[in-house]
Amino acid sequence: MAPPSLKICCIGAGYVGGPTMAMIALKCPDVEVNVVDISKARIAAWNSDNLPIYEPGLSEVVEACRGRNLFFSTDVERLVADCDVVFVSVNTPTKTTGLGAGKAADLTYWESAARMIATVSKSDKIVVEKSTVPVKTAEAIEKVLSHNAKGIKFQILSNPEFLAEGTAIQDLAFPDRVLIGGRDTEGGQKAVNTLKSVYARWVPEDKIITTGLWSAELSKLAANAILAQRISSVNAISALCESTGADVSEVAFAIGKDTRIGPKFLQSSVGFGGSCFQKDILNLVYICECNGLSEVAHYWKQVVAINDYQKSRFAKRVISSMFNTVAGKKIAILGFAFKKDTGDTRETPAIDVCHGLLGDRAVLTIFDPQVPEEQIRRDLSMNKFEWDHPHQLHSHGGSVTSKIEYATDVYEACKGAHGICILTEWEMFRNLDYQRIYDNMQKPAFLFDGRNIVKVADMRKMGFIVYSIGKPLDP
Ligand code: NAD
Repeated sequence: MAPPSLKICCIGAGYVGGPTMAMIALKCPDVEVNVVDISKARIAAWNSDNLPIYEPGLSEVVEACRGRNLFFSTDVERLVADCDVVFVSVNTPTKTTGLGAGKAADLTYWESAARMIATVSKSDKIVVEKSTVPVKTAEAIEKVLSHNAKGIKFQILSNPEFLAEGTAIQDLAFPDRVLIGGRDTEGGQKAVNTLKSVYARWVPEDKIITTGLWSAELSKLAANAILAQRISSVNAISALCESTGADVSEVAFAIGKDTRIGPKFLQSSVGFGGSCFQKDILNLVYICECNGLSEVAHYWKQVVAINDYQKSRFAKRVISSMFNTVAGKKIAILGFAFKKDTGDTRETPAIDVCHGLLGDRAVLTIFDPQVPEEQIRRDLSMNKFEWDHPHQLHSHGGSVTSKIEYATDVYEACKGAHGICILTEWEMFRNLDYQRIYDNMQKPAFLFDGRNIVKVADMRKMGFIVYSIGKPLDP
C-alpha cells in the first residue's frame, strides 16, 4: 500500500474532533487521520459500535473509514510526534476560578496540548487551532511552541469549526464556508495552502476563505455571538408578544421575509443552550473588557442576560399558571438535550427550568430519547439554579431535595401528571398522541411548550390549558 500523502493527528476526540476528522478521513482516503484523547472511555467508545456522541449520519461515516485511514487512540504523544498536521480540538470552557472567572476562556487544556506538542515533536509541523479560542491565542501558542529543544519549526493556523450539533455531518459535508487564518509570511501561506488542499477535496474553492490569524480567531466568536443575539432578540420580542396579544411566530415570519434579515434563527424558545453560545459570548465580553471597551462588553452581556431571563420567565410562568405553586405536583419534562438530534446537555435550558420547578417543590418526571438517566442526574446535581443569574451560579455540589424521576417511555412520563413542559424540539414530540396523554393526566391539564412545536388550537380543543412562548395566553 502507498504511504499516506499526509499524516494528520487531532488532539481531542469530542463533538468537534471526532466528526470533523471522520469527514476528512472519508473525503481523503490517502490521508492518515489519527484522533487522540486522554480519555480512555471516549476512545474506547469511538472504537466500538456505541459511539460516544449521537449525531445523525456519524456512525455511517465512521464505519466507512475506521481502520482504513481513520484511527482513534490514547497513544497521544507517539501519534503527535510524527504527524505533519496537528489539529487541536480540546475543550475551552469558561474559567470557573481566578482571574476572569465566569467569563474568560480556560485555556489550560490548550496550553498543555501545546507544551506536549513542543516536547514530543520529531518533525516540523502545522498546528491548527480547531477549538474556539480568544483572539490572539495563536500568539501565545507560538511562544510555547517556539521554545523547543530540537529547533523544530511550527506554523500556526486558525481553522475554527462552524458545525452545529445535530447537523454536524451535513454541515461538514456541505459547509457554508471553511475559514483558514494564517500568518502573512512564506511559511504561513505554505501552511494555509496545505490545509486548503485537504478541504479542497470536497469543498468548492469559493467556500474556502483565507484571512489573517486574528480575523479567523475573532470570526468564530463573532459568529456565535451574532447567532445567539438573533435568538435573544426574538425571545425579547416574545415577552412583548405575551404582554400585548401579538404572536411571535407571526412576527418572526413577517420580519424574516425581509431579505436583509432572513428567516433563520428567528425561532422563539425557552432559551439557547449548548456548550458554545454562552461561553463564547462571555469570552467576547471579557476580551472587550480587557481592551477597555466596556460599552461593547455591556452590549454583548445583554444577549446572555436575555437568555437567562427567558429561562427563568418560562419556569415562573409554569408555576404562576398552576395556581402559583407546583409543590407536590407531577410535571413531565419532555426533552433534556439542549436541542434536537443531539444527546448533549451542556448548558441546556432544561437544567435551569428543572431547578426553577424543583425550587418550588415540584415532582419531575424527565424523559429524553437520547439522554441517559445518569447524565441528567449528574447535570441536575452539579448545577445550581437561582432565578436571576443562573449562568454565574453553576457550582459543584448544589443540592436539590425535591423529587426527580426518570422515564424511558414518554407516555409513562406524562401519566398522572398535572402539567407537561416541552423543553427540546425532538420530532417525536410533534407527533405524540396528545389525546391519550390528556386522558391520562390530572385535570386541569397544563401544557407548556418551550419550543412552540404543538398546534395550540388543537391542544386547547382537547382540553389542555396551553402556554406557548410568545403566543396569546389562554383566555
Ligand atoms: P469536548 O469536550 O467534547 O471534547 C474535547 C476533548 O478534548 C475531550 O474528549 C477531552 O478529553 C480532550 N482533551 C482535553 N485535553 C486534552 C489533551 N491534553 N490531550 C488529549 N485530549 C485532550 O469538546 P467539543 O465540544 O468537541 O469542543 C472542542 C472545541 O471546539 C471547543 O473549543 C469548542 O468551543 C469548539 N466548538 C464546539 C462546537 C460544538 O458544537 N460542540 C462547535 C464548534 C466549535
